[in-house]
Amino acid sequence: MSPDKYIKNYIDGALVPALSTNYIDNVNPAIGQVYSHIPDSDTDDVQRAYEAAERAFPTWSKMGMQKRFRILARLADIIEQNLDDFAAAESIDSGKPFKTALSIDIPRAHQNIRFFATAILHFASESHHMEGEAVNFTLRQPIGIVGCISPWNLPLYLFTWKIAPALAAGNCVVAKPSEITPMTAYMLSKACIEAGLPNGVLNIVHGEGPKAGQAIIEHPKIKAISFTGGTNTGRKIAATAAPMFKKLSLELGGKNPNIIFADCDFDQMILTTLRSSFSNNGQICLCGSRIYVERPIYERFKEEFVKKTQLMKVGDPFSEVTDLGAISSKAHLEKIINCINLAEVEGGNMLCGSNEPLRMKGEYEQGYFLRPVVFEGLPIDCRTNQEEIFGPVVTITPFDTEEEVLAYANSTDYGLSATVWTKDISRAQRISESLQAGIVWVNCWLLRDLRTPFGGVKHSGVGREGGLEALRFFTEPKNVCIKY
Ligand code: NDP
Repeated sequence: MSPDKYIKNYIDGALVPALSTNYIDNVNPAIGQVYSHIPDSDTDDVQRAYEAAERAFPTWSKMGMQKRFRILARLADIIEQNLDDFAAAESIDSGKPFKTALSIDIPRAHQNIRFFATAILHFASESHHMEGEAVNFTLRQPIGIVGCISPWNLPLYLFTWKIAPALAAGNCVVAKPSEITPMTAYMLSKACIEAGLPNGVLNIVHGEGPKAGQAIIEHPKIKAISFTGGTNTGRKIAATAAPMFKKLSLELGGKNPNIIFADCDFDQMILTTLRSSFSNNGQICLCGSRIYVERPIYERFKEEFVKKTQLMKVGDPFSEVTDLGAISSKAHLEKIINCINLAEVEGGNMLCGSNEPLRMKGEYEQGYFLRPVVFEGLPIDCRTNQEEIFGPVVTITPFDTEEEVLAYANSTDYGLSATVWTKDISRAQRISESLQAGIVWVNCWLLRDLRTPFGGVKHSGVGREGGLEALRFFTEPKNVCIKY
């Protein structure tokens, strides 16, 4: 299953160009050059996708979950059988290390599909008995045609996290991956054809967010939107969709605290904190970018953490020894560099890294590489500590008391996730209850059980994905009351 130079939309079971026949360039961020082209879709393509989905809906929604399960399970198997091809494509498209795509992104993509294919078989609704009078039962029916829009940081991983529950629940989907990382969604289209997914059940429209994406949001008959991306885009989407009374799930940005108490398992904490800071170049909404360390171990932490950060290998995404590949796009690299410059203006002391891109030699000379950056000495309320950077940049700050660090942790507009390191179980419980976050990890990070609710509070989003929450989102509850 090889990537093509000209990506196509997947509409009504066929691979087709945009109706305008226009294309947008797709850049390989590790070499800084165009390597393929994406359909520049617009409202007309979205309308075509919607009509195909509408035609497919009566059959798909009534097909029965056993049949839907079998098709989706076949789709998951095809991705797994083509693991290397998908991982290579993901690495080239996004700049992430091949080994990361091979061990995390693509396995999670087929797990997502398999998880929701089976979850629908166990999904049940409630009944409420009014003794001697009536029985109520809740039907959980598919919504109809739904829109799914995903970002570039974990391309196939997040794309499948949305479309799998939507399809398993019996909906038909119009979906758009990020224009920055469209390749594995295109390969998924081919896998859907091979798996025998009926025409029109899933339609993938490529193109720019404000054009193709906005057309999905604005479509009057697309009844629900599941979106993952930046908080500002989420705000725009809500402004369009809420007055149309669409069901909305918004998974948005984060500025996650990593709280380290002196009684933690230091070695385990350091290794995990390197991962939670710099995995995928810090381009994971769950990365912990504000690190608060209890004062008795602050200096030891600083020394070890900076030393280990400096040893991280940046470069060739296909090398086994690479820790950090390329930043996903030139525009994003420039944004991160602006954030680093701002941190210096705000009085930050850069302990390692640079505000200059890392210039590689040979094939990767024009690629978008950056060394990981650690700052200290920044005020809690400065922009660097309050706004999402979404890059390999963290700040470290000492603290003295639990109350103080809780105030620091809860000081931002965001509330996606938080990490706590301590061996004191009572403190872990106390802090977890008081943190303003949708997800708290204690003595670990990114340990995910797909059955658990996933999402944020405050400006990090509305609604929850994961497990039965996702199936609830993608179904409409209808109460039926029968008097007897
Ligand atoms: P964006 O918000 O820029 O884009 C996300 C998706 O929305 C892309 O497919 C984009 O298309 C599309 N889009 C952009 N504008 C519109 C619009 N007006 N209408 C409809 N769709 C639109 O986010 P990024 O891709 O830059 O992703 C990074 C952000 O995602 C970070 O803030 C990160 O925290 C967040 N994120 C949140 C997660 C969570 O679970 N809470 C998980 C992962 C990331 P295109 O790219 O083609 O323009």
